[in-house]
Amino acid sequence: MKKNGKIFVITAPSGTGKTTIIRSILKKLPDVVYSISATTRGKRANEKDGVDYFFIDEAAFQQKISDHQFVEWEKVYDYYYGTPKFFVEKVISEGNSILLELEVKGALSIKKVFPQAIMIFLLPPSLEILEKRLRERKTESEEDFQKRIERAKMELSLKDKFDYFIVNNNLNTAILELKEVIEKITNKEMN
Ligand code: 5GP
Repeated sequence: MKKNGKIFVITAPSGTGKTTIIRSILKKLPDVVYSISATTRGKRANEKDGVDYFFIDEAAFQQKISDHQFVEWEKVYDYYYGTPKFFVEKVISEGNSILLELEVKGALSIKKVFPQAIMIFLLPPSLEILEKRLRERKTESEEDFQKRIERAKMELSLKDKFDYFIVNNNLNTAILELKEVIEKITNKEMN
């Protein structure tokens, strides 16, 4: 019988560079499947429905909550985000590994449901650098910026619950390190 695939959960405060890192990792590790979350947030210019997220409205999201279709869900910055249960179970039962990118509370919920999940935290070099990156990004209003910084502090305060830490000092090094962690764990199972 085929062994269950691995569950990799990645958490990173906003501004850590996680989207770039994860997109690159998925290209380098084509056998790792990405878990596409549902969200009520609006689609950004560079995003595709059914690729980055399933963009749905609040009524549809609430219906999925009632139907127990999420392994976990959270409200983040006024929007809902949830991980479809069916897909995670399907991928791992077929022996493939899945990667979930979630904020910290959702990540810890996944660990409760799937204690075997491998928990990875992407860290900014420092809180000061994170603040600087968020300011330079200029995609948020001052109010949003403050919310993101407060949330980053909360997320960082829970990082000890994770198994692996990768500091994004240098993008390419961080990508390599993450790739090594995933490869080490997936290959170990195959031997
Ligand atoms: P963004 O709107 O920037 O794509 O994501 C906002 C936050 O929601 C990020 O921290 C991201 O990791 C998190 N997130 C994305 N999908 C999910 C999900 O399904 N569940 C939870 N709990 N968080 C999610």
